[in-house]
Amino acid sequence: MRNFWENLKNKLAYWMQGRYGSDELNNAIFVAFIVLWIVSLITKSRVFYWIGLILLGYSLYRSLSRDHYKRSNERLWFLKQTEHIRKLPGQIKMRWEQRNTHKFYRCKQCGVTIRVPKGKGQIEITCPKCGHKFIERT
Ligand SMILES: [Zn+2]
Repeated sequence: MRNFWENLKNKLAYWMQGRYGSDELNNAIFVAFIVLWIVSLITKSRVFYWIGLILLGYSLYRSLSRDHYKRSNERLWFLKQTEHIRKLPGQIKMRWEQRNTHKFYRCKQCGVTIRVPKGKGQIEITCPKCGHKFIERT
């Protein structure tokens, strides 16, 4: 029996050789599938379930693909699109840790976040990205 599993493992490893495997995009697709599946259970709509299955099929296709170049390009595209979301927890943590020493403002012109030290009174803040100036109390 042990030999059987050992054999199966070897065969599977051989079959998987040169295939792309999993990455962040596939993990996200799997999470999306679970979410869609739950939504389909709640709404009793099969549409979400089928969309989820199609996504799952796509992720399986990606895992078994031998075109590493295309798959890693898809991965890079995905990482670029989700950069803001993935950075968010770190930013929230950083702001929380610096809440006593710094204040955070959003530039009204370009939307970039600007960090200024607290307790300096009324100051003129210049956006480092677009040069927009505004006055705030810190
Ligand atoms: Zn700006």
